[in-house]
Amino acid sequence: MNKPTEANNNKHEQRDDLISVIVPCYNEENVLSAFYRAASDAVKDIEGADCEFIFVDDGSRDRTPDILQSLSYADKRCKYLSFSRNFGKEAAMYAGLLNASGDYCVFMDADLQHPPQLLKEMYRVVKTEGYDCCGGLREDRTGESRVRSILSRTFYHVIDKICRLDMGNGKGDFRMFSRAMADSILELKEYNRYMKGIFSFVGYETKWIPFHNVERSAGETKWSIRALFRYALDGIFSFSSFPASLSAVGGVIALFIAALTAICSLVSGNGLTGTTLLICLLFLLNGIQMFFISILGQYISREYAESKKRPIYIVKKKGGF
Ligand code: UDP
Ligand code: MG
Repeated sequence: MNKPTEANNNKHEQRDDLISVIVPCYNEENVLSAFYRAASDAVKDIEGADCEFIFVDDGSRDRTPDILQSLSYADKRCKYLSFSRNFGKEAAMYAGLLNASGDYCVFMDADLQHPPQLLKEMYRVVKTEGYDCCGGLREDRTGESRVRSILSRTFYHVIDKICRLDMGNGKGDFRMFSRAMADSILELKEYNRYMKGIFSFVGYETKWIPFHNVERSAGETKWSIRALFRYALDGIFSFSSFPASLSAVGGVIALFIAALTAICSLVSGNGLTGTTLLICLLFLLNGIQMFFISILGQYISREYAESKKRPIYIVKKKGGF
């Protein structure tokens, strides 16, 4: 067996970091080549790091898989996976991360809405400033329809309040993070994935770099208002049991109305007869029923949380073992 020489050791110590650029792609034939050129130019500028591109074709029906195949022939840094059908951006990001071998990983959209010029600064932050993650903070929603912009803002406001996790407006998936954080993310194997919640759940320190939104450079958004609504519900149901407690609130309101009706009719001297008695009984029974449904809801939401088998804790560093 060869003994490691000093030269070999030095070589090993000086090894460049590897940055895995993970790109989910769904019907992106119009923009992929431009993305590859822009991202390759941007990573050329990064000193001390090499990069690999992990493209995930999420069941595209256009020429996306062919373009990815050509890229992989032309540039050995380009790797790709092609899904058998459209599984959604979350699944594509998970698959990309699972196949990435970088010391640092970064998720990027293929449509150039995530400026590749930020990669250099992101790498500097995670490498030298002690942060585990550096994310692009989208400062505005220029180029987005008004309805979509208002709906998104309201959604992030609501989800931050009820999930008690910081998933804030503008904090998207465009983040570069360490291998430790990538491994923690991969520990969450749940099927209904909501990446912004997962980032927030695993913790780690994140620095945010603001950037201005730009319109998609070609092609069109894959998210209809309906798809966004479904995505929003995924976020809420995956990270909060708040909906399960709503029926307790309804139950208390119904019991309150029953009591109020009874008190009012007794005080007015009419007594509890006929219609009033019927109203009282209706609200009373409904209230009791809703109250017990909420208890069932609590058991089910706990069971649901257990079934995801999320890690109970995440260790960031160890020492002295
Ligand atoms: N995407 C995907 N699967 C989907 C939908 C989108 O992989 O089912 C990819 C898409 O190709 C792009 C990124 O996710 O790289 C963001 O999608 P898009 O630009 O349509 O979203 P928007 O920027 O409008 O939120
Ligand atoms: Mg986009």
